[in-house]
Amino acid sequence: MSERDKKIVIIGSGPAGLTAAVYAARANLDPLLIEGFEAGGQLMLTTEVENYPGFVDGIMGPALMEQMRKQAARFGTEYLTQNVTSVDLSERPFRINAGDEVITAATVVVATGAQAKMLEVPGERELLGHGVSTCATCDGFFFRDKELAIVGGGDSAMEEATFLTKFASKVTVVHRRGSLRASKILQERAFENPKIDFVWDSTITRISGNGKVDAVHVRNLKNQQEHDLSVDGVFVAIGHIPNTHLFSHSLELNQGGYIVATGDGTQTSVEGVFAAGDVVDFRYRQAITAAGMGCMAAIDAERYLDGIGMSH
Ligand code: NAP
Repeated sequence: MSERDKKIVIIGSGPAGLTAAVYAARANLDPLLIEGFEAGGQLMLTTEVENYPGFVDGIMGPALMEQMRKQAARFGTEYLTQNVTSVDLSERPFRINAGDEVITAATVVVATGAQAKMLEVPGERELLGHGVSTCATCDGFFFRDKELAIVGGGDSAMEEATFLTKFASKVTVVHRRGSLRASKILQERAFENPKIDFVWDSTITRISGNGKVDAVHVRNLKNQQEHDLSVDGVFVAIGHIPNTHLFSHSLELNQGGYIVATGDGTQTSVEGVFAAGDVVDFRYRQAITAAGMGCMAAIDAERYLDGIGMSH
């Protein structure tokens, strides 16, 4: 067991964590960023990113994360590649266990992100970024005049189905029940849209395509009949899971399990612990908004350290 003591520890290595690291490092706080074995967050699962400002011709998701990682390193961010196994936020300094290390920290930025729930059917992982997407805002643009399927019956699915009709010629919603979970207004908007069709009581059992999606296989759960639907893309909108299991006993979480920012900015229910990105934000979920929150968290942490006389 080795021990080290830091002013600031950032947990998570997506856009929120890495932006927090850039700001904390440039504020001379000598940050440690714990990046986990699956570093880089959700952008590591995407292909082309065209909506991150500054990249006129777009950039691949993993390349963007690599750039951010190098930028934070340039100013002295230290990285630890370990999964955090437990945190103790009940005492100061806070204690973080990762691998065989115990790290104590005056302040912590939690940027552990969220994961899109997946269908876990054949073809889904292989074709992720090649027609399978979990983000209509990010990828809708690539499907001009194409036919799409979207899975889910909640607010996200209805909002995304409606959004996708700006580009697609047809959007088929595949929902596992006979009625939607989404709020009435979003339901009505989708029902009234002539480009949206519904396939009820059904699930997608397989996604097929050679290098890119060309069809989904749909099973009716009432009569077990199957049919193929020719589509160029499939959007999975069945919810997200925030990565908050480490904090379930120490930080206030909302009903969906997201960390609650308790006041202005990124402060959590424990003073000195800040949260940024998709682990708090279930509304916008964009790389750029996560990065913005990471910047906010680093500034909030710096001010907190200033307040307790530890910023120098
Ligand atoms: P959600 O409300 O949990 O809905 C998930 C949908 O996916 C449900 O219809 C569910 O079916 C279906 N589903 C779940 N697992 C599935 C599986 N394995 N296979 C097939 N279908 C599956 O998630 P969400 O739509 O992402 O919304 C999350 C939260 O954000 C909600 O509180 C929502 O109100 C909020 N939100 C609000 C807005 C807005 O107000 N504009 C927009 C987006 C999200 P069942 O219905 O059968 O359970």
